[in-house]
Amino acid sequence: MHLNSQQIQQKALELWQLWKDRTPTPKERLTIPVQEMPNRNPLERRTSMEEVALGYSSEQAQLEANRCLNCKNAPCVEGCPVHIDIPGFLVKAARGDFRGALGVIQESSLLPAICGRVCPQEIQCQAPCTVAKSLKDPSKAVSIGRVERFVADWAREKTSDTQVPVCAPPTGKKIAIVGSGPASVSAAADLRRLGHAVTIFEAFHKPGGVLIYGIPEFRLPKAIVDQEMTNLKNMGVEIQTNFLVGRTRKLKDFLEKDGFDAVFVGTGAGLPKFMHIEGENLVGVFSANEYLTRCNLMKAYDHDRSATPIYRSRKVAVLGGGNVAMDAARSAQRLGAEEVSIVYRRSEAEMPARREEVEHAKEEGVHLLTLCNAQKILGDEKGRVRAIETLNYQLGEPDASGRRSSVPIPGSEALLEVDTVIVAIGNDSNPLLRQTTPELAVNKNGNFIVDAEGRTSLERVWAGGDIVLGAATVILAMGQGRTAAAAIHRFLSAS
Ligand SMILES: Cc1cc2nc3c(=O)[nH]c(=O)nc-3n(C[C@H](O)[C@H](O)[C@H](O)COP(=O)(O)OP(=O)(O)OC[C@H]3O[C@@H](n4cnc5c(N)ncnc54)[C@H](O)[C@@H]3O)c2cc1C
Repeated sequence: MHLNSQQIQQKALELWQLWKDRTPTPKERLTIPVQEMPNRNPLERRTSMEEVALGYSSEQAQLEANRCLNCKNAPCVEGCPVHIDIPGFLVKAARGDFRGALGVIQESSLLPAICGRVCPQEIQCQAPCTVAKSLKDPSKAVSIGRVERFVADWAREKTSDTQVPVCAPPTGKKIAIVGSGPASVSAAADLRRLGHAVTIFEAFHKPGGVLIYGIPEFRLPKAIVDQEMTNLKNMGVEIQTNFLVGRTRKLKDFLEKDGFDAVFVGTGAGLPKFMHIEGENLVGVFSANEYLTRCNLMKAYDHDRSATPIYRSRKVAVLGGGNVAMDAARSAQRLGAEEVSIVYRRSEAEMPARREEVEHAKEEGVHLLTLCNAQKILGDEKGRVRAIETLNYQLGEPDASGRRSSVPIPGSEALLEVDTVIVAIGNDSNPLLRQTTPELAVNKNGNFIVDAEGRTSLERVWAGGDIVLGAATVILAMGQGRTAAAAIHRFLSAS
């Protein structure tokens, strides 16, 4: 039976009455049902930018945390790229000590409200969960991310605790950080706490990286990211926006002319890939990056007030099957498109997007055209998109990625009438820094080559996040930012 949000919370409240005064045995813990995430109604949310997932109630958070068996080897900690003490925070959350739980998370992660929302927990910390293994069902893993999100939101909303983290006395050392995504934010916070003077240089007019310009409001409210940026500023981190390193100032100028002792580069993977098919230059073709940036950063959805209104679309094809494709499709729907189709050449099972995002997109009415790909974009006499020519595919043998390959079916061409095409097939690293700093060693994909501590081939320059990993995840970017910060601190302390 599908329950609405109120019913989900009511059920949890009743169940919590049974458990609240006792500590369940391990056997009993396995009988506590997985707490569903209450979500906004699909019909209501498809026209709204408001967050889809509404978050747990305190009873749900405690019930879910009580599902943890606190097992000895805690494989979840190994599965977390920043090794949060997950059983440690769940034990506290289970007892209702949410502040304590947050404290445990913050020892390893600086952005729990963000990671609790966007981390792919199902393939990281939740994948090896002992509860799921005991119940022989991966969907029954403890919902670690949802409890993490709850305790972070609880602290933000229910307490007036805006304490600025304590920073060590000034060391007299200055660090420049290029970019302001999760890798840079983590590096900046750690270095500032250690007493160094930190300045972030960001190309856009708002800091936050993909968290601000890429991931939509309905998955990650921007107020949460803004709060993190305010926290950084309150710690004394200086943030200079509209500053394109490589143009406004060369990277090496920071070290040779501006008196910085070290540089951390976290410029991400912001260069969209295209299909290189006929018609990609027509009016009405966007990269997902441009589309989402217009929507999120420039607030194009706010039609009456936005200074950069977005192209009004009726029928939209989104090419790709990852999280970015889902975000673009769901954004197009919210911007008023009547019909939005995701065109993906494998089947739904191979889609790299998170399961939850695919389900949400489908609930909101996005069509999935699987085993199908665009091979040509057709225009009208004014040079605007009027259709795509598609070709059907079937699944073949697994390829190098381990997923079944897609094999074209000759003669299966068809036309799909659309006025907008959004290309969401991945991103490469931005070439500006490597072009303007040829001393930086890069691999064949243009990503910076670094050692285990994030040190690049250029002296006193470290790097981390997507510029090193290629398009990856928020938590991996954060982990690399922290590793590099520790290495920079060791280097500065020794010099
Ligand atoms: C639409 C979208 C959805 C995603 N969804 C998820 C998700 O659900 N979960 C997840 O874990 N990951 C997700 N990701 C991936 C995740 O956001 C990235 O892996 C992560 O943000 C990388 O962090 P970063 O700090 O390396 O770089 P970024 O977040 O890319 O930030 C880099 C910053 O550097 C700035 N910059 C670039 N060049 C310069 C320059 N020369 N001078 C100054 N500034 C510069 C950019 O403007 C940007 O602000 C998503 C990505 C996209 C695009």
